[in-house]
Amino acid sequence: MSNESQYDTLISWLETNYPNEPEYHQAVREIVKDILPVYHVHDEYKQHNVVTRLCVPERIIQFSIFWQNDNNEVEVHQGWRVQHCGLIGPYKGGLRFHPTVNTSILKFLAFEQTFKNALTGLPMGGAKGGSNFNPKGRSDAEIMRFCQAFMMELHRHIGPNTDVPAGDINVGNREIGYLYGAYRRLENRFEGAITGKHLEFGGSHVRTEATGFGLIYMLQCVLDTHEDSMAAKRIVISGAGNVALHAALKATELEGKVITLSNSRGYYFNENGLSQDMIQWAIANKKSEDNVLCALADNYGGEWISDKTPWNVKTDIALPCATQNELDGEDAKALLNNGCQYVLEGANMPCTDDAQRAFAEAQIPYVPGKASNAGGVALSGLEMSQNAKFRRSSFDKLDQSLKDIMQSIHEQCVEEGQDSGWINYSRGANIAAFRRLATAMVAQGV
Ligand code: GLU
Repeated sequence: MSNESQYDTLISWLETNYPNEPEYHQAVREIVKDILPVYHVHDEYKQHNVVTRLCVPERIIQFSIFWQNDNNEVEVHQGWRVQHCGLIGPYKGGLRFHPTVNTSILKFLAFEQTFKNALTGLPMGGAKGGSNFNPKGRSDAEIMRFCQAFMMELHRHIGPNTDVPAGDINVGNREIGYLYGAYRRLENRFEGAITGKHLEFGGSHVRTEATGFGLIYMLQCVLDTHEDSMAAKRIVISGAGNVALHAALKATELEGKVITLSNSRGYYFNENGLSQDMIQWAIANKKSEDNVLCALADNYGGEWISDKTPWNVKTDIALPCATQNELDGEDAKALLNNGCQYVLEGANMPCTDDAQRAFAEAQIPYVPGKASNAGGVALSGLEMSQNAKFRRSSFDKLDQSLKDIMQSIHEQCVEEGQDSGWINYSRGANIAAFRRLATAMVAQGV
């Protein structure tokens, strides 16, 4: 069967068997188009049906969460854990609490996570989980009770050698603390079953910063390869969460000029670039302020622009760090027309198919999240090994390991992504991860 007909057959099989899951189909389409040519020249891959097997999750756990809010009302939410692939290590991936969470979103994230984790070179399989619970406007006590109720079910499905969740959107340090506290009491075991923990109870230095810092280390590799540098480059960042703010911090430290941050209500713009102090202030106050970016403009100057995204701002570099499909074909055109030369994803799948196509046509370096935001899960892998040894490494040592891992991912993308003079980072990442996973699958048999 040709690549094209195999592609069509697989995608229509997925759409028929798993209807109404557009994000999942989108993530599969993006990867499968790149890996089929490699699949076709390896008889053993075909023999083991590796592509179809890699596209479907090994297991999906779905459960209901009953918990009591501050008004003594009992609320009901759905929880899931998608254990996509355990070929190369324990299932590994974050938990997301957001009203948009459903099986399509979690299946796309778990699928992407599997390829991302393979790129890190560490022994981690791929998973994702979470709930359609909206934590906005909830009290701290409500968050704690929700996390406890969530773990009441999840604890039986995870463990340091089974499945190791971490944070994702709306699951940060506080939630991880409550989730871990519940796990420890339910299991009566102190072990590395969750990453992103506080330093006091098994957490790792650099974990909080890792996704954002790793994104900028990847940017440095990309710039070096293109004989360019960060100094005075205009950088547009979307998002104002952990990834966006730590990316902004590291970029600023390396003399890049970060001119925007954003949230679901609009964006913050500063022509002179944010200072380290301003970013540190945003990190310190993001929980207590209703709209930390608006408050940033009030306290430090710069503009708050309501109901708009930052993609029309003139820039050299764009780092989408908010959420999936936040940057579409029109946004990509606007970025390109305004001189954007590099796009690196801090979020998971923030660029739509159309946007990716526009960057590919313009042949500018475009690095997909599974490569450029892998620093977070890489540090999770290092947290797991520290937990297994009951030892803690220093900040500097881990920061160096993060740089090394990002550099190795960059090298894999360059090696596999050569496309007549242009580096197709997406294809490079997809093929490099696929080779590792397919080799493991064949070796382990059916
Ligand atoms: N949620 C993060 C990601 O998308 C981190 C996952 C983890 O550390 O397990 O990669």
